[in-house]
Amino acid sequence: MEDINVNGTLIWYYYICKREVWLMSRSITGDQDNKYMDIGRFIHESSYSRDKKEISIGNIKIDILKKNKGNVLIGEVKKSSKYEESAKMQLAYYLYKLKEYGVEGQGVLMFPKERKRVEIVLDEDMINKIKYVEKEILKLIYDEYPLLPKKTRYCRNCAYSEFCWS
Ligand code: SF4
Repeated sequence: MEDINVNGTLIWYYYICKREVWLMSRSITGDQDNKYMDIGRFIHESSYSRDKKEISIGNIKIDILKKNKGNVLIGEVKKSSKYEESAKMQLAYYLYKLKEYGVEGQGVLMFPKERKRVEIVLDEDMINKIKYVEKEILKLIYDEYPLLPKKTRYCRNCAYSEFCWS
């Protein structure tokens, strides 16, 4: 098996479903016609177009990166705050990776449908949490098999639901 790196997407899914982390890490694609994926893509592509830029640094992709009163501000656009914990940790992970490159920044989560913004600051607690989650993700994805499916409120809208439950 090729080396697998932790990335923002895996951090996000870690807080949704650990089985999904394994499936994604093996490039097993879910149902691309899943309507919730379409809505997500649409919102991602059409919101905040004035500021919108996608920038790749190492293995991370950042939605928006600009200077705000002398600080670097990175943003992540999400379709709903239903997954706020995932989104918060994903953005904190990006801030952590930027810090490794010597760039200090702040983050803002944007939920355009709800006209909501949440600011994210990378503090020591957050850094420790990220280091722990990185190790947990690596343990999960280097397992030979994924965890068994477990019915949760996320399954209904998940692109892997047919794969897990048919
Ligand atoms: S359908 Fe449920 S168990 Fe299967 S990957 Fe999706 S969220 Fe996880």
